[in-house]
Amino acid sequence: MSIIQAVNIPTAWQNADHDCALFVYRGDLEHPHAPGNKWHKLKYHLHAAKQAKAHYLATFGGPYSNHLHAFANTLANTSLPGIAVVRGELQPRLTATLRDVADAGIELWPCTRKDYRLAQRSELVAYINALYQGVYWLPEGGGGILGAKGCRDWAADIDYLDHECDAWLVSSGTGTTAAGLLAADKTPHLHVVSALKGAEAQAEDILSLASLVSDPVLDSASLRHKMTFHSDAHEGGYAKQSQALEAFMRFFASANPELPLDPVYGCKTVFHVVKKIHAGEWPHRRTLFIHTGGLQGWRGYRDTLNPYIASPPDSEK
Ligand SMILES: *Cc1c(COP(=O)(O)O)cnc(C)c1O
Repeated sequence: MSIIQAVNIPTAWQNADHDCALFVYRGDLEHPHAPGNKWHKLKYHLHAAKQAKAHYLATFGGPYSNHLHAFANTLANTSLPGIAVVRGELQPRLTATLRDVADAGIELWPCTRKDYRLAQRSELVAYINALYQGVYWLPEGGGGILGAKGCRDWAADIDYLDHECDAWLVSSGTGTTAAGLLAADKTPHLHVVSALKGAEAQAEDILSLASLVSDPVLDSASLRHKMTFHSDAHEGGYAKQSQALEAFMRFFASANPELPLDPVYGCKTVFHVVKKIHAGEWPHRRTLFIHTGGLQGWRGYRDTLNPYIASPPDSEK
């Protein structure tokens, strides 16, 4: 099986008049325990922590966070102990995500919403820093310049395998991954689809971050023509799913049973491009969707919403 595969567009969304093929780069298959974009974002942070001779690595995340999950599973291969500050109270029955994080040996700290917002400036962080010496803090989601650099390297790996697509397509949350991909010299036109509501202004942040890590250096004005930012694909908001999206996912999963998409990011990105292709509004002939992983996130949804679980018709769920 190749890591670049053809995507089957469900029949109802095909467009016979337009020759648009969709491919996927299976980033979800790259790492056995921390698949997707998150460990690329962690790479340079780990280097920096080692250089700083940190004794602990710490970060923030929500109870279903792909970032915390990848953080835990990446650290499992190092000798650095990890600390995860989790938004909200820790319930006696941890979410499946937090259970995995704890099983990987990471210490969990609950955190009020206020401290979570204050992040580095919170009392909790000051407390943890006083308790443990030498803590390296990663921003939520592993973002910033170091996160983007890791994704710039990732783009070079993907480009090495892809020689035929005239556009790439990626989901965004913080936009760090998109900025890194955009910063790589060989990346073709990049379509960025936000999973958040009201993310219009993020396009500018992506351009400036991309410019900071671009190699060779490009200013954001010259990167601008290489990117299209889509802020109208959130289907109700972060981690929400519209009925139209749910229906699409069922058709998509039956046309591509071996290609699971995650519930928060990938499904919205693919739905968006498929609608554009159907409407004859997609200007590229061969498009490569970069799968950013996140499949563990399905555990935060009802099984009946997950079209990749084959459930018998009369099952009591
Ligand atoms: C975190 C995440 C993203 C968004 O990455 P950003 O760098 O924050 O834009 C996209 N897809 C998946 C599956 C993710 O977990």
